[in-house]
Amino acid sequence: MTPLEEVREIVLAQCARGPVITLPVREARGCVLATVVVATEPVPPFANTAVDGYAVRSVDVQNVPVELEVIGEVAAGAVSPVALREGTAIRIMTGAPIPDGCDAVVMVEDTERIADHGVRIFKSVSFGDAIRDAGSDVAVGATVFTPGVVVTPMVEGVLASINAQKVSVYWKPRVGVISTGDELVDDGSPLRPGQIRESNRKMLLQLVEQSGAEPIDLGILRDDEEELESVLLKVTSRGVVDALITSGGVSMGDYDVVKAVLGRIADMRWFQIAMKPAKPFAFGVMPGEDGRIVPVFGLPGNPVSSLMSFELIARPALRSMMGMTNPYRPVVQAIVDEEVSRKPDGKTHFDRVHATWGSDGRVHVRRTGPQGSHQLAATAVANAIMAVPDGNGVRAGDTVEVTFLGPDAGATAQ
Ligand code: AMP
Ligand code: MG
Repeated sequence: MTPLEEVREIVLAQCARGPVITLPVREARGCVLATVVVATEPVPPFANTAVDGYAVRSVDVQNVPVELEVIGEVAAGAVSPVALREGTAIRIMTGAPIPDGCDAVVMVEDTERIADHGVRIFKSVSFGDAIRDAGSDVAVGATVFTPGVVVTPMVEGVLASINAQKVSVYWKPRVGVISTGDELVDDGSPLRPGQIRESNRKMLLQLVEQSGAEPIDLGILRDDEEELESVLLKVTSRGVVDALITSGGVSMGDYDVVKAVLGRIADMRWFQIAMKPAKPFAFGVMPGEDGRIVPVFGLPGNPVSSLMSFELIARPALRSMMGMTNPYRPVVQAIVDEEVSRKPDGKTHFDRVHATWGSDGRVHVRRTGPQGSHQLAATAVANAIMAVPDGNGVRAGDTVEVTFLGPDAGATAQ
Protein backbone atom coordinates (compact mmCIF):
# COMPACT_ATOMS: atom_id res chain seq x y z
CA MET A 1 0.00 0.00 0.00
CA THR A 2 1.18 3.52 -0.80
CA PRO A 3 0.75 6.32 1.75
CA LEU A 4 -1.73 9.01 0.65
CA GLU A 5 0.98 11.69 0.81
CA GLU A 6 3.11 9.80 -1.69
CA VAL A 7 0.18 9.30 -4.07
CA ARG A 8 -0.59 13.00 -3.88
CA GLU A 9 2.99 13.89 -4.74
CA ILE A 10 3.07 11.53 -7.71
CA VAL A 11 -0.26 12.84 -9.01
CA LEU A 12 0.47 16.54 -8.52
CA ALA A 13 3.84 16.20 -10.22
CA GLN A 14 1.99 15.19 -13.41
CA CYS A 15 -0.73 17.82 -13.19
CA ALA A 16 0.96 20.83 -14.74
CA ARG A 17 -0.36 24.33 -14.32
CA GLY A 18 -2.33 25.30 -17.41
CA PRO A 19 -1.81 28.30 -19.70
CA VAL A 20 -2.45 31.91 -18.75
CA ILE A 21 -5.40 33.50 -20.50
CA THR A 22 -7.04 36.91 -20.47
CA LEU A 23 -10.71 36.88 -19.62
CA PRO A 24 -13.45 39.39 -18.91
CA VAL A 25 -13.77 39.48 -15.11
CA ARG A 26 -17.19 37.81 -15.16
CA GLU A 27 -15.80 34.76 -16.93
CA ALA A 28 -12.81 34.57 -14.61
CA ARG A 29 -14.86 33.67 -11.55
CA GLY A 30 -13.12 30.99 -9.52
CA CYS A 31 -9.91 31.31 -11.55
CA VAL A 32 -6.48 32.09 -10.13
CA LEU A 33 -4.87 35.43 -10.99
CA ALA A 34 -1.64 34.98 -12.94
CA THR A 35 -0.38 38.57 -12.74
CA VAL A 36 -0.53 41.45 -10.30
CA VAL A 37 -3.53 43.74 -10.48
CA VAL A 38 -2.57 47.40 -10.21
CA ALA A 39 -5.23 50.03 -9.57
CA THR A 40 -5.55 52.73 -12.23
CA GLU A 41 -8.33 54.48 -10.33
CA PRO A 42 -8.57 55.42 -6.64
CA VAL A 43 -11.30 53.96 -4.45
CA PRO A 44 -13.16 55.93 -3.33
CA PRO A 45 -12.61 58.27 -6.29
CA PHE A 46 -13.15 61.43 -4.16
CA ALA A 47 -13.34 62.36 -0.49
CA ASN A 48 -16.87 61.68 0.74
CA THR A 49 -18.89 61.42 3.90
CA ALA A 50 -19.29 58.17 5.81
CA VAL A 51 -22.48 59.35 7.52
CA ASP A 52 -25.65 61.34 6.95
CA GLY A 53 -25.27 64.65 8.75
CA TYR A 54 -23.79 68.12 8.42
CA ALA A 55 -20.57 69.10 6.71
CA VAL A 56 -18.77 71.57 9.00
CA ARG A 57 -15.45 73.26 9.71
CA SER A 58 -14.23 71.47 12.83
CA VAL A 59 -13.06 74.79 14.37
CA ASP A 60 -16.70 75.94 14.37
CA VAL A 61 -17.91 73.07 16.55
CA GLN A 62 -15.31 72.91 19.30
CA ASN A 63 -17.66 74.41 21.90
CA VAL A 64 -21.04 72.74 21.83
CA PRO A 65 -23.93 73.13 21.63
CA VAL A 66 -23.49 75.63 18.82
CA GLU A 67 -25.80 76.92 16.11
CA LEU A 68 -24.72 77.09 12.46
CA GLU A 69 -26.43 78.46 9.39
CA VAL A 70 -27.36 75.72 6.85
CA ILE A 71 -26.38 77.06 3.43
CA GLY A 72 -27.06 74.06 1.22
CA GLU A 73 -27.57 70.37 0.76
CA VAL A 74 -25.63 67.68 -1.09
CA ALA A 75 -26.71 64.11 -1.86
CA ALA A 76 -24.70 61.15 -3.16
CA GLY A 77 -24.11 61.67 -6.87
CA ALA A 78 -24.26 65.47 -6.61
CA VAL A 79 -21.64 68.15 -5.90
CA SER A 80 -22.22 71.11 -3.57
CA PRO A 81 -22.25 74.35 -5.57
CA VAL A 82 -21.34 76.31 -2.44
CA ALA A 83 -18.35 76.23 -0.12
CA LEU A 84 -18.45 76.40 3.68
CA ARG A 85 -17.71 79.70 5.35
CA GLU A 86 -17.18 80.38 9.02
CA GLY A 87 -20.31 79.60 11.03
CA THR A 88 -22.07 77.60 8.30
CA ALA A 89 -22.96 73.92 7.64
CA ILE A 90 -24.15 71.95 4.63
CA ARG A 91 -26.64 69.09 4.97
CA ILE A 92 -24.88 66.05 3.50
CA MET A 93 -25.86 62.42 2.76
CA THR A 94 -23.65 59.32 2.96
CA GLY A 95 -21.38 59.01 -0.08
CA ALA A 96 -21.75 62.66 -1.17
CA PRO A 97 -18.52 64.54 -2.00
CA ILE A 98 -17.09 66.70 0.78
CA PRO A 99 -17.85 70.37 0.00
CA ASP A 100 -14.99 72.86 -0.24
CA GLY A 101 -14.05 74.29 3.14
CA CYS A 102 -15.38 71.28 5.07
CA ASP A 103 -12.98 69.21 7.20
CA ALA A 104 -15.38 67.06 9.24
CA VAL A 105 -18.94 65.76 9.25
CA VAL A 106 -21.29 65.67 12.26
CA MET A 107 -23.74 62.75 12.36
CA VAL A 108 -27.37 63.80 12.01
CA GLU A 109 -28.08 61.99 15.31
CA ASP A 110 -25.91 64.61 17.08
CA THR A 111 -27.82 67.56 15.62
CA GLU A 112 -31.23 69.23 15.69
CA ARG A 113 -32.75 71.30 12.90
CA ILE A 114 -33.81 74.78 14.00
CA ALA A 115 -35.92 77.45 12.34
CA ASP A 116 -35.64 77.58 8.53
CA HIS A 117 -31.92 77.71 7.94
CA GLY A 118 -30.26 76.62 11.14
CA VAL A 119 -28.87 73.53 12.83
CA ARG A 120 -27.85 72.99 16.42
CA ILE A 121 -24.76 70.78 16.86
CA PHE A 122 -24.52 68.85 20.14
CA LYS A 123 -21.27 67.03 19.68
CA SER A 124 -17.91 68.40 18.68
CA VAL A 125 -15.92 66.64 15.96
CA SER A 126 -12.24 66.72 15.05
CA PHE A 127 -10.46 67.37 11.79
CA GLY A 128 -11.20 64.51 9.34
CA ASP A 129 -14.03 62.89 11.32
CA ALA A 130 -16.45 60.84 9.15
CA ILE A 131 -14.54 61.77 6.00
CA ARG A 132 -13.41 58.91 3.75
CA ASP A 133 -10.43 60.17 1.80
CA ALA A 134 -9.97 59.56 -1.91
CA GLY A 135 -7.96 56.36 -2.35
CA SER A 136 -8.41 55.32 1.30
CA ASP A 137 -9.59 51.87 0.18
CA VAL A 138 -7.35 51.51 -2.88
CA ALA A 139 -4.77 54.12 -3.94
CA VAL A 140 -3.93 54.72 -7.59
CA GLY A 141 -0.91 52.65 -8.54
CA ALA A 142 -1.35 50.29 -5.58
CA THR A 143 -0.94 46.55 -6.12
CA VAL A 144 -4.38 45.33 -5.16
CA PHE A 145 -3.90 41.61 -5.82
CA THR A 146 -0.89 39.40 -6.37
CA PRO A 147 -0.68 36.23 -8.48
CA GLY A 148 -2.33 33.26 -6.80
CA VAL A 149 -5.38 35.15 -5.54
CA VAL A 150 -8.62 33.41 -6.49
CA VAL A 151 -11.33 35.49 -8.15
CA THR A 152 -13.92 35.16 -5.38
CA PRO A 153 -17.12 37.24 -5.22
CA MET A 154 -15.27 39.77 -3.03
CA VAL A 155 -12.33 39.99 -5.42
CA GLU A 156 -14.80 40.48 -8.27
CA GLY A 157 -16.30 43.37 -6.30
CA VAL A 158 -12.91 45.02 -5.89
CA LEU A 159 -12.07 44.52 -9.57
CA ALA A 160 -15.34 46.26 -10.43
CA SER A 161 -14.52 49.12 -8.04
CA ILE A 162 -11.24 49.85 -9.85
CA ASN A 163 -12.83 49.37 -13.30
CA ALA A 164 -10.68 46.36 -14.19
CA GLN A 165 -12.49 44.88 -17.17
CA LYS A 166 -10.19 41.96 -17.92
CA VAL A 167 -7.78 39.87 -15.90
CA SER A 168 -4.96 37.45 -16.62
CA VAL A 169 -5.74 34.12 -15.03
CA TYR A 170 -4.76 30.50 -15.31
CA TRP A 171 -7.21 28.45 -17.33
CA LYS A 172 -10.13 26.49 -16.02
CA PRO A 173 -9.47 22.92 -17.11
CA ARG A 174 -12.42 21.14 -18.72
CA VAL A 175 -12.88 17.96 -16.76
CA GLY A 176 -14.79 15.09 -18.32
CA VAL A 177 -16.72 12.92 -15.86
CA ILE A 178 -17.71 9.36 -16.82
CA SER A 179 -19.36 6.71 -14.75
CA THR A 180 -19.10 3.10 -15.74
CA GLY A 181 -21.18 0.06 -14.93
CA ASP A 182 -23.85 -2.16 -16.52
CA GLU A 183 -25.93 -1.82 -13.38
CA LEU A 184 -26.31 1.97 -13.53
CA VAL A 185 -29.46 3.79 -14.63
CA ASP A 186 -30.28 7.48 -14.41
CA ASP A 187 -33.40 7.91 -16.52
CA GLY A 188 -35.87 7.64 -13.64
CA SER A 189 -37.30 4.36 -14.91
CA PRO A 190 -38.26 1.57 -12.47
CA LEU A 191 -35.23 -0.47 -11.47
CA ARG A 192 -34.94 -3.88 -13.03
CA PRO A 193 -33.37 -6.64 -10.95
CA GLY A 194 -29.70 -5.90 -10.36
CA GLN A 195 -29.88 -2.27 -11.40
CA ILE A 196 -29.04 0.71 -9.19
CA ARG A 197 -29.41 4.41 -9.68
CA GLU A 198 -26.35 6.25 -10.85
CA SER A 199 -25.20 8.82 -8.30
CA ASN A 200 -21.45 9.37 -8.53
CA ARG A 201 -21.50 11.30 -11.75
CA LYS A 202 -23.94 13.90 -10.47
CA MET A 203 -21.92 14.34 -7.31
CA LEU A 204 -18.60 14.50 -9.15
CA LEU A 205 -19.82 16.98 -11.77
CA GLN A 206 -20.80 19.37 -9.01
CA LEU A 207 -17.63 18.76 -7.05
CA VAL A 208 -15.61 19.57 -10.16
CA GLU A 209 -17.58 22.77 -10.60
CA GLN A 210 -17.10 23.74 -6.95
CA SER A 211 -13.38 23.11 -7.29
CA GLY A 212 -13.36 25.89 -9.89
CA ALA A 213 -12.84 23.71 -12.96
CA GLU A 214 -15.34 23.25 -15.78
CA PRO A 215 -17.25 19.96 -15.63
CA ILE A 216 -18.15 18.09 -18.80
CA ASP A 217 -20.75 15.35 -18.49
CA LEU A 218 -19.69 12.35 -20.55
CA GLY A 219 -22.52 10.16 -19.28
CA ILE A 220 -22.73 6.54 -18.22
CA LEU A 221 -20.74 3.97 -20.13
CA ARG A 222 -21.47 0.25 -20.07
CA ASP A 223 -18.87 -2.26 -18.98
CA ASP A 224 -17.79 -2.61 -22.57
CA GLU A 225 -14.12 -2.25 -23.36
CA GLU A 226 -14.55 -1.21 -26.98
CA GLU A 227 -17.08 1.49 -26.24
CA LEU A 228 -15.06 2.86 -23.33
CA GLU A 229 -11.85 2.87 -25.32
CA SER A 230 -13.38 4.71 -28.24
CA VAL A 231 -14.96 7.39 -26.02
CA LEU A 232 -11.79 7.95 -24.01
CA LEU A 233 -9.64 8.23 -27.13
CA LYS A 234 -12.10 10.56 -28.81
CA VAL A 235 -12.48 13.06 -25.96
CA THR A 236 -8.76 13.24 -25.25
CA SER A 237 -7.39 13.35 -28.81
CA ARG A 238 -9.98 15.86 -30.02
CA GLY A 239 -9.30 18.25 -27.18
CA VAL A 240 -12.79 17.94 -25.66
CA VAL A 241 -11.35 17.63 -22.16
CA ASP A 242 -8.19 18.69 -20.31
CA ALA A 243 -8.58 16.03 -17.63
CA LEU A 244 -10.73 12.95 -17.13
CA ILE A 245 -12.43 11.48 -14.11
CA THR A 246 -13.92 8.00 -14.28
CA SER A 247 -15.76 6.27 -11.50
CA GLY A 248 -15.99 2.52 -11.12
CA GLY A 249 -14.16 -0.37 -12.67
CA VAL A 250 -10.71 0.09 -11.16
CA SER A 251 -10.64 -2.70 -8.58
CA MET A 252 -10.20 -6.45 -8.84
CA GLY A 253 -13.51 -7.52 -10.43
CA ASP A 254 -13.79 -9.45 -13.69
CA TYR A 255 -15.67 -6.57 -15.32
CA ASP A 256 -13.37 -3.80 -14.23
CA VAL A 257 -13.12 -2.56 -17.79
CA VAL A 258 -11.72 0.86 -16.90
CA LYS A 259 -8.68 -0.93 -15.60
CA ALA A 260 -8.35 -3.03 -18.75
CA VAL A 261 -8.84 -0.12 -21.16
CA LEU A 262 -6.73 2.48 -19.38
CA GLY A 263 -4.01 -0.12 -19.00
CA ARG A 264 -3.84 -0.23 -22.81
CA ILE A 265 -4.33 3.37 -23.88
CA ALA A 266 -2.89 5.40 -20.98
CA ASP A 267 0.29 5.50 -18.98
CA MET A 268 -1.23 4.39 -15.69
CA ARG A 269 -0.28 3.78 -12.07
CA TRP A 270 -2.53 1.49 -10.09
CA PHE A 271 -2.49 2.35 -6.44
CA GLN A 272 -3.55 0.62 -3.32
CA ILE A 273 -3.60 3.62 -1.03
CA ALA A 274 -3.08 3.12 2.70
CA MET A 275 -6.46 4.59 3.48
CA LYS A 276 -10.05 3.59 4.07
CA PRO A 277 -12.33 4.17 2.26
CA ALA A 278 -10.95 4.52 -1.29
CA LYS A 279 -8.05 2.10 -1.25
CA PRO A 280 -8.01 1.39 -5.02
CA PHE A 281 -7.16 4.40 -7.11
CA ALA A 282 -5.79 4.79 -10.60
CA PHE A 283 -3.94 7.71 -12.04
CA GLY A 284 -2.29 8.21 -15.36
CA VAL A 285 -1.90 10.38 -18.39
CA MET A 286 -3.14 10.17 -21.95
CA PRO A 287 -1.90 12.05 -24.98
CA GLY A 288 -4.18 14.98 -25.76
CA GLU A 289 -4.52 17.43 -28.61
CA ASP A 290 -1.38 19.33 -29.69
CA GLY A 291 0.97 17.22 -27.60
CA ARG A 292 -0.77 18.13 -24.35
CA ILE A 293 -1.01 15.68 -21.52
CA VAL A 294 -4.43 14.74 -20.18
CA PRO A 295 -4.41 13.50 -16.57
CA VAL A 296 -6.83 10.65 -15.90
CA PHE A 297 -8.23 9.94 -12.44
CA GLY A 298 -9.74 6.48 -12.03
CA LEU A 299 -11.89 6.68 -8.93
CA PRO A 300 -13.44 3.64 -7.29
CA GLY A 301 -17.17 3.11 -7.84
CA ASN A 302 -18.45 2.99 -4.30
CA PRO A 303 -19.94 6.45 -3.80
CA VAL A 304 -18.14 7.31 -0.57
CA SER A 305 -14.85 6.05 -2.01
CA SER A 306 -15.43 8.09 -5.13
CA LEU A 307 -16.02 11.18 -3.02
CA MET A 308 -13.00 10.60 -0.82
CA SER A 309 -10.55 10.02 -3.63
CA PHE A 310 -11.90 13.08 -5.39
CA GLU A 311 -11.61 15.21 -2.25
CA LEU A 312 -8.22 14.01 -1.13
CA ILE A 313 -6.47 13.57 -4.49
CA ALA A 314 -8.31 14.68 -7.63
CA ARG A 315 -9.48 18.03 -6.26
CA PRO A 316 -6.02 19.19 -5.18
CA ALA A 317 -4.68 18.03 -8.55
CA LEU A 318 -7.31 20.04 -10.45
CA ARG A 319 -6.65 23.08 -8.25
CA SER A 320 -2.97 22.72 -8.95
CA MET A 321 -3.70 22.66 -12.70
CA MET A 322 -5.64 25.88 -12.09
CA GLY A 323 -2.53 27.58 -10.76
CA MET A 324 -3.02 27.26 -7.01
CA THR A 325 0.23 26.96 -5.16
CA ASN A 326 -1.40 25.37 -2.12
CA PRO A 327 -4.26 23.34 -3.55
CA TYR A 328 -5.12 21.48 -0.33
CA ARG A 329 -7.95 22.24 2.03
CA PRO A 330 -6.87 23.45 5.47
CA VAL A 331 -6.37 20.80 8.14
CA VAL A 332 -7.13 21.73 11.75
CA GLN A 333 -6.83 19.94 15.06
CA ALA A 334 -10.08 18.98 16.72
CA ILE A 335 -11.39 17.12 19.74
CA VAL A 336 -13.26 13.92 18.95
CA ASP A 337 -16.30 13.69 21.23
CA GLU A 338 -16.82 9.93 20.98
CA GLU A 339 -14.77 6.77 21.06
CA VAL A 340 -13.94 5.45 17.60
CA SER A 341 -12.56 1.94 17.70
CA ARG A 342 -10.78 0.26 14.81
CA LYS A 343 -8.19 -2.44 14.21
CA PRO A 344 -4.63 -1.92 13.00
CA ASP A 345 -4.61 -2.51 9.20
CA GLY A 346 -1.84 -0.23 7.94
CA LYS A 347 -4.36 2.37 6.77
CA THR A 348 -5.50 5.78 7.86
CA HIS A 349 -9.27 5.74 8.23
CA PHE A 350 -11.00 8.86 7.01
CA ASP A 351 -14.32 9.10 8.84
CA ARG A 352 -16.93 11.65 7.92
CA VAL A 353 -17.86 13.93 10.78
CA HIS A 354 -19.86 16.92 11.79
CA ALA A 355 -17.59 19.61 13.19
CA THR A 356 -18.75 22.37 15.51
CA TRP A 357 -17.07 24.99 17.66
CA GLY A 358 -17.31 24.10 21.33
CA SER A 359 -17.66 26.59 24.19
CA ASP A 360 -14.02 25.78 24.98
CA GLY A 361 -13.04 27.48 21.73
CA ARG A 362 -11.97 24.18 20.15
CA VAL A 363 -13.37 22.37 17.15
CA HIS A 364 -15.30 19.26 18.18
CA VAL A 365 -16.26 16.39 15.91
CA ARG A 366 -18.66 13.46 15.88
CA ARG A 367 -19.26 10.94 13.13
CA THR A 368 -22.41 11.59 11.13
CA GLY A 369 -23.47 7.94 10.86
CA PRO A 370 -22.45 4.63 9.35
CA GLN A 371 -19.10 4.74 7.60
CA GLY A 372 -19.45 2.05 4.91
CA SER A 373 -18.16 3.00 1.48
CA HIS A 374 -21.66 2.57 -0.03
CA GLN A 375 -23.37 4.68 2.66
CA LEU A 376 -23.33 8.09 1.03
CA ALA A 377 -26.41 9.31 2.91
CA ALA A 378 -24.57 9.55 6.24
CA THR A 379 -21.55 11.11 4.54
CA ALA A 380 -23.67 13.68 2.71
CA VAL A 381 -24.45 15.58 5.91
CA ALA A 382 -20.83 15.72 7.08
CA ASN A 383 -18.89 18.98 6.95
CA ALA A 384 -15.46 17.53 7.62
CA ILE A 385 -13.25 14.46 7.36
CA MET A 386 -11.48 13.09 10.44
CA ALA A 387 -8.25 11.13 10.10
CA VAL A 388 -8.15 8.16 12.46
CA PRO A 389 -4.52 7.00 12.39
CA ASP A 390 -3.57 3.33 12.07
CA GLY A 391 -3.97 1.54 15.39
CA ASN A 392 -6.81 0.76 17.76
CA GLY A 393 -8.75 3.97 17.33
CA VAL A 394 -9.26 7.11 19.34
CA ARG A 395 -10.97 7.81 22.64
CA ALA A 396 -13.40 10.60 23.45
CA GLY A 397 -11.37 13.72 24.19
CA ASP A 398 -8.45 12.77 21.94
CA THR A 399 -7.07 15.26 19.41
CA VAL A 400 -7.54 14.38 15.75
CA GLU A 401 -6.77 16.05 12.44
CA VAL A 402 -9.77 17.29 10.53
CA THR A 403 -10.16 18.53 6.97
CA PHE A 404 -13.10 20.83 6.41
CA LEU A 405 -15.17 20.25 3.30
CA GLY A 406 -16.71 23.03 1.17
CA PRO A 407 -18.47 26.01 2.74
CA ASP A 408 -21.97 24.53 2.40
CA ALA A 409 -21.04 20.97 3.30
CA GLY A 410 -23.17 19.59 6.10
CA ALA A 411 -25.11 22.83 6.45
CA THR A 412 -28.35 22.29 8.34
CA ALA A 413 -31.21 24.64 9.01
CA GLN A 414 -30.96 25.95 12.57
P1 AMP B 1 -16.85 -0.83 -9.07
O1 AMP B 1 -15.80 0.11 -8.58
O2 AMP B 1 -17.23 -0.61 -10.48
O3 AMP B 1 -16.51 -2.25 -8.78
O4 AMP B 1 -18.14 -0.48 -8.23
C1 AMP B 1 -18.15 -0.62 -6.82
C2 AMP B 1 -19.55 -0.39 -6.29
O5 AMP B 1 -19.95 0.94 -6.57
C3 AMP B 1 -20.61 -1.26 -6.92
O6 AMP B 1 -21.55 -1.60 -5.91
C4 AMP B 1 -21.25 -0.37 -7.96
O7 AMP B 1 -22.57 -0.75 -8.25
C5 AMP B 1 -21.18 0.97 -7.29
N1 AMP B 1 -21.12 2.04 -8.27
C6 AMP B 1 -20.24 2.12 -9.30
N2 AMP B 1 -20.43 3.24 -10.01
C7 AMP B 1 -21.46 3.89 -9.43
C8 AMP B 1 -22.14 5.11 -9.73
N3 AMP B 1 -21.78 5.87 -10.76
N4 AMP B 1 -23.16 5.47 -8.93
C9 AMP B 1 -23.51 4.69 -7.87
N5 AMP B 1 -22.90 3.55 -7.54
C10 AMP B 1 -21.90 3.14 -8.32
MG1 MG C 1 -18.34 -1.54 -11.94
